[in-house]
Amino acid sequence: MIPSVDGILDKAIAGRRLSAEEALQAYEQADLVAFGRAADQVRRRLHPANLGTFVVDRNINYTNACVADCSFCAFYRPPRHPEAYRLPITEILRRVGELVAMGGTQVLLQGGLDPSLPLSYYEEMCRAIKREFPQIHLHSFSAPEIDTMAQVSGKSERQVFEALKAAGLDSMPGGGAEILVERVRQAVSPKKLSAAGWFRIHRAAHEVGLKTTATMTYGMVETSAERVEHLVRLRELQDETYGFRAFIPWSFQRGHTVLDTPPAGGMEYLRVIALARLVLDNVPNIQAGWVTEGPKLAQLALSFGANDFGGILVDEVVVGATGMVYRVDREEALRLIRGAGRVPAQRNTKYETLEIFPRDVISTPSGARGKQSAKRPEPAAGGRGDLQITASALGASSQ
Ligand code: SF4
Repeated sequence: MIPSVDGILDKAIAGRRLSAEEALQAYEQADLVAFGRAADQVRRRLHPANLGTFVVDRNINYTNACVADCSFCAFYRPPRHPEAYRLPITEILRRVGELVAMGGTQVLLQGGLDPSLPLSYYEEMCRAIKREFPQIHLHSFSAPEIDTMAQVSGKSERQVFEALKAAGLDSMPGGGAEILVERVRQAVSPKKLSAAGWFRIHRAAHEVGLKTTATMTYGMVETSAERVEHLVRLRELQDETYGFRAFIPWSFQRGHTVLDTPPAGGMEYLRVIALARLVLDNVPNIQAGWVTEGPKLAQLALSFGANDFGGILVDEVVVGATGMVYRVDREEALRLIRGAGRVPAQRNTKYETLEIFPRDVISTPSGARGKQSAKRPEPAAGGRGDLQITASALGASSQ
């Protein structure tokens, strides 16, 4: 007997696992409001504290030199291109120092796939940051970067992780996932790591004790069934390793890209967020992404299954290369989270709460606050109220 859509949603609300067929049926047929309400009920069960969390982080794109030629990417340049760059360690340290002064806790080092870079380059980046800023959580690189490091060094992926972990790597973002179905990858990024390779590398990370996140870039050439397959495959690995801390979807952003599919739209984004919350019953956090979707849609996503507002990114440039730039300052982020009926809370990469911002906290333009209930001290200089966020990015949210 074919189940009704209401029956499928009730099943998920009750905490019972949806099959791929049930998830697809609900995704394609459910009324958007009912679909979102079901996902929100699941979110409430998993996160009863009613917080809307965010992390203060910085994406540092250490190089744009890349040989993968992904058709959806506006950021990369071929290695010998006049606009190809590689940041010196001194510049990377300067940017991390700015983040620390703003009260930031997380650094995402992400770059193109440049076979001329030895593994020692990445190790030295990690070591230098940890030497100067031991308090920073290095949530860095991605499966395709690890794949390139393994090929260049002749080491196994596990050995690469062990070397990076010894140098200071704390966890790895889920970038480079796009759609984890081989047909789609062959169509949009045939030179990049396969879907099986992405899963193999995340499994290796989990096995050496590094947590990761998972992402999805939708709105390229995939079908609805392939989006569901992506999520179900993530759920299967999570059953084995419990290594994913969060899932972050974002829509393909065209502009200066070879791929030119039309924008997926806001309604579709909300559907994807809700679908993720309903299918990924073993992934604790679903992140809304204002970087690609805009702050107002990200706010709505908090009522469609998302529990996290993502990262406050400083001058990350990958999505910006498409021409897509949103700006949100810290006060705006707090206002948007409160507007969604949540209590804003700054978290760290492990999703541990660092500071809660109840309604009577008043921030001045300099970042000093009035009444407050803080779990951690004020940043020494600058004040997080000064944060201006230039959205963009490969892995356009904090991942
Ligand atoms: S998405 Fe990443 S791997 Fe693909 S071309 Fe851009 S920088 Fe290179």
